[in-house]
Amino acid sequence: MKGTFPVSKFRELRTPFYYYDTRVLRDTLACIRSEAGRYENYKVHYAVKANANPKVLAIIRESGLGADCVSGGEIRAAIKAGFPTDKIVYAGVGKADWEINLGLDYGIFCFNVESIPELEVINELAAARGKVANVAFRINPNVGAHTHANITTGLAENKFGINMDDMERVIEIAGEMAHVRFVGLHFHIGSQILDMGDFTALCNRINDLLDKLEAHHIRVEHINVGGGLGIDYTHPNRQPIPDFRSFFATYANFLKLRPYQTLHFELGRSVVAQCGSLISRVLYVKQGANKRFAILDAGMTDLIRPALYQAYHKIENLTSEEPCETYDVVGPICESSDVFGKAIDLNKARRGDLFALRSAGAYGEIMASGYNCRELPQGYLSDELL
Ligand SMILES: *Cc1c(COP(=O)(O)O)cnc(C)c1O
Repeated sequence: MKGTFPVSKFRELRTPFYYYDTRVLRDTLACIRSEAGRYENYKVHYAVKANANPKVLAIIRESGLGADCVSGGEIRAAIKAGFPTDKIVYAGVGKADWEINLGLDYGIFCFNVESIPELEVINELAAARGKVANVAFRINPNVGAHTHANITTGLAENKFGINMDDMERVIEIAGEMAHVRFVGLHFHIGSQILDMGDFTALCNRINDLLDKLEAHHIRVEHINVGGGLGIDYTHPNRQPIPDFRSFFATYANFLKLRPYQTLHFELGRSVVAQCGSLISRVLYVKQGANKRFAILDAGMTDLIRPALYQAYHKIENLTSEEPCETYDVVGPICESSDVFGKAIDLNKARRGDLFALRSAGAYGEIMASGYNCRELPQGYLSDELL
């Protein structure tokens, strides 16, 4: 089954471009709202790094989510899109001074701090401005995730977060600083996680840590468990909205929240991935020595996930109903890894056909680069193409 697309509109547009189906996006946001709304103390933020297209951000902001940022540029993008500053959280192992100052000046809700040296700099910069910064500590829980190695973040070997064993010492250090206020703990174990058991393991770890802190009479008001919920790349039409009910229920069932605690989430991929497709034209169909290539005008500069993470994106020929043939679908970039799929069965392709690379709304447009002096792809909302 193919998705439904306004193909005649597509023919008028310069390819490649990203197409965002706003109905899918709005339905996804409505689902998050209702499923998280079952729990009084849940707060959901959108991880801006998944897609910062201003038109996409505006729709997400309208739904009432907060913003999770990992750079000064993302803080600016979130504010420009109208996210309230007191709903912005800011993580990252390498926050530059100007980025910290930006967060201080806007009065963002919280810095998710990833090291003691960073804590010291935040304290200094806040002192210089006569402010007190809310800080949460990103703890590396040493919990694995059943996902691609490049998108695992919660193992001791990863660069992210503060070692679990240092947690109490860091909280103590913060307690002695005049310009930071300790408000919570932050975790994020990885991305494209479909096994709820991984989130259960995180809950168990957090329970242990909270018990430990409680024994030392340390109160933690905010627990932020990050994002990571995966999507179905193989069947984008079968289940366009991820299983948010099970995701939120896993935390409700396994995390022993205290009554005064607020639980924060930072969802990126699961919010925007399925609404987006990369639309591209077939430039050439080339017969190789032992295979056929469909050469597209989109390449790894437009969508790098296949080259970077061996990621699978479903490919559809939107303009052919002819019997299927088998193709390697490749881009024009001068890199052998510029391949979107090998031995893919597609309706017979001809020059000029339009292909959709599905489930590309997250970590697609935002990761585009100008390598080979290429122009960045445009992004269009379905609303604009009516
Ligand atoms: C990337 C990231 C997220 C979002 O991850 P998804 O897998 O896209 O949901 C959330 N929190 C932090 C700190 C991140 O770095």
